Amino acid sequence: MSNEKATSLFDDAISRLDDAAAHAKIEAEALLRLRRPKAFMEVSIPVRMDDGTLRVFTGYRSRHDDSRGPAKGGIRFHPNVSPEEVKALAFWMTCKCACVGIPYGGGKGGVTVNPKELSRLELERLSRGYIRQVADFIGPDTDVPAPDVYTNATVMGWMMDEYSKIHRQRTPAVITGKPIALGGSLGRDDATGRGAYYCIKELEKLRDWKPSEMRVAVQGFGNAGQHVARLLHADGYKIVAVSDSRGGIYSAEGFDIPSLIKMKRDSRRLEAVYCHETICETVDAQKITNEELLELDVDLLLPAALENQITTDNVANIKAPVIVELANGPTTSDADEVLAKRGTLVVPDILANAGGVTVSYFEWVQNKAGYYWTVEEIHRKLRPIMVSAFHAIYEVMENKKIDMRTAAYVVALERIGEAIAAQGTAEFFVKT
Ligand code: NAD
Repeated sequence: MSNEKATSLFDDAISRLDDAAAHAKIEAEALLRLRRPKAFMEVSIPVRMDDGTLRVFTGYRSRHDDSRGPAKGGIRFHPNVSPEEVKALAFWMTCKCACVGIPYGGGKGGVTVNPKELSRLELERLSRGYIRQVADFIGPDTDVPAPDVYTNATVMGWMMDEYSKIHRQRTPAVITGKPIALGGSLGRDDATGRGAYYCIKELEKLRDWKPSEMRVAVQGFGNAGQHVARLLHADGYKIVAVSDSRGGIYSAEGFDIPSLIKMKRDSRRLEAVYCHETICETVDAQKITNEELLELDVDLLLPAALENQITTDNVANIKAPVIVELANGPTTSDADEVLAKRGTLVVPDILANAGGVTVSYFEWVQNKAGYYWTVEEIHRKLRPIMVSAFHAIYEVMENKKIDMRTAAYVVALERIGEAIAAQGTAEFFVKT
């Protein structure tokens, strides 16, 4: 039984607001507005299955805040998708976009489904069905979805096509993370891993790390996890453990990441959509569980799977002195307090995984302009955004003597608060 305080994921996420607000210049009214989503939608999605039967799935979309620009955030297909999860993820998106200074608010969507049980055609019907139900809620200037766990470029392409049919005009800017052929951006595939990599490279300079002496564990070997592992491995970092939903593998010598990625990709049954096998079955290495991976004696721990992985149940056993959160919400707020007291440096999700939404922003800009950039231009534009956000937050952390997550929220809240205040505050109220 968990020792965690009994709060929902959304309540836990929102609890960070108060911690950060104590250090930020933000009006109470702005905080009041950020405590709940601006709009939330639940939909039923009827899908004709391949055997002729009808199944009705439940989907959601949350628009947390759009003071700084259209809401932005992914669509998740997962059995655990719930209203509270979607609301929490949308809140994090609001903070993430403000944290790195891109002109978006926060949104998120999802469908409660195990996509691994669907055929490719069923998956397409579900993806298109979801868009039919939320077509009036999203839009290129209101709320712009993207991929998240168990959705990918193929799914985004179907969704953009469906939205364009409904609105009877091609609308690539309604969704990001699309296939390149449908208006996707070069460099979006590895953007989340690359953004985290840029943060790690800044830490490397600050802490004088020698890559060959750095042992790294990566929980979650999907889009985010694979790319950060690939980039770090290329620089000489030792990736000693990786895992997926079925378990992990460990090698004290470190893995050859390009061949691990190839093996993982080759083992997919539904090509380029879903993985049905696990790396544990294809690689000759010591098997470990996901729980064991988190507790390894490593120099750098990269959670890149799902939320609530580091909790009060296991935080006492987490040995890594530095954690870079590629997943959204992998650490609960109670566990976070323990890590902060212990002096573990946590580069928080809203900074560490912001490379993905930043290149999504680039994709949206390119779609609106109808003018496309080279991958070199994407990398050239991404790096300074990540590096300057990293240092701005690091400086707040040091100046205010707070942990890095609180510092990231301070930076984000001040930007959001400024936008909310500019729309009108109690100051303008004249008593008669
Ligand atoms: P993905 O579907 O490509 O990969 C997820 C990986 O996690 C898979 O390898 C899966 O097997 C593994 N996994 C699932 N459950 C697990 C568990 N209980 N333990 C260990 N591994 C498990 O998803 P992704 O896009 O890489 O997203 C991973 C995380 O990164 C999510 O929290 C997501 O919200 C976050 N994120 C992703 C992006 C992006 O651009 N892809 C951007 C920002 C944040």
